Amino acid sequence: MAKSAKIITLTNFQGYGPVFFPKFQVDQMKVDFHIHSNCSDGELEPRDIIRSAAKVGCEMFSITDHDSIAAYEMLEDDLKGEKPRIVPGCEFSVSWERQEVHVVGLNFDLGSPKLKSAITQQNLTRRNRSVAIAQRLETAGVTDILAKAYSLSGKGPPGRLHFAQALVAKGIVRNIQQAFDRYLGAGQVAFVETSWLSLGEVCEVVQSAGGSAVLAHPLKYGFSNSRLMKLLEDFGLVGGDALEVISGNQNRDNTAHLARLARKFDFAASVGSDFHRPNAPWASIGRLPALPGICRPIWSDWLIKV
Ligand SMILES: [Zn+2]
Repeated sequence: MAKSAKIITLTNFQGYGPVFFPKFQVDQMKVDFHIHSNCSDGELEPRDIIRSAAKVGCEMFSITDHDSIAAYEMLEDDLKGEKPRIVPGCEFSVSWERQEVHVVGLNFDLGSPKLKSAITQQNLTRRNRSVAIAQRLETAGVTDILAKAYSLSGKGPPGRLHFAQALVAKGIVRNIQQAFDRYLGAGQVAFVETSWLSLGEVCEVVQSAGGSAVLAHPLKYGFSNSRLMKLLEDFGLVGGDALEVISGNQNRDNTAHLARLARKFDFAASVGSDFHRPNAPWASIGRLPALPGICRPIWSDWLIKV
């Protein structure tokens, strides 16, 4: 067999039999491993995400709702199809040094009891937080906000974005940014510090279900360089697998910076749009630059040469 035609098997690919790819194709695959549906704070139905991904020729992708795998329950029939390829995913909220960061779990067993109970726990945390936020808003003079936030949150308990939308809808603030600046952001009257799972707990949950743990959008937390280094170090210590080296339409300098960090800390690299809704050109499904050559794509970890 010619070298360029080496065959690769995709392992742990739930809902399918083995999938074969020629090795030379793997590095150049069009992928998107960070997409939100309306099972969390995205706008599209999971089925419409599959359509959009197919339309742009996405070869592998993942719906990664916040602490939810409900999209996969809705898609059971679609998952049996040959194409496009969906990798099970979930974006976990994580408490790290009293701040919230996100870890995307990918390519895990959707039936894992440990994973399901972690998601149940996170949802309970989110539900309790929504009540606490509503109480604080109430104290600040904003009434009937919880019901409004629930009406906007679709299938899960409302997150801060839904409260922000509710505040806009009620005419209390002009826009989402103002809602965070005045009420919901860190240190504001309706900010509730939340105890999510820890970095180590999330890595354990994802990896025990056969999946990979990816630190989402490392540059979007607004951390100083030394704090980011500490986060990456801690993520490495608990066995994190990859960094999201490409997040949406970020600039080349950031991509190069993250690629170097992934290499320095010996992480694989992932790619994700963080798509939430159509008509947001900075985060469209599957329209992402290729990973820099120094990166080891996370999906190559799921592939075995035969
Ligand atoms: Zn996200």
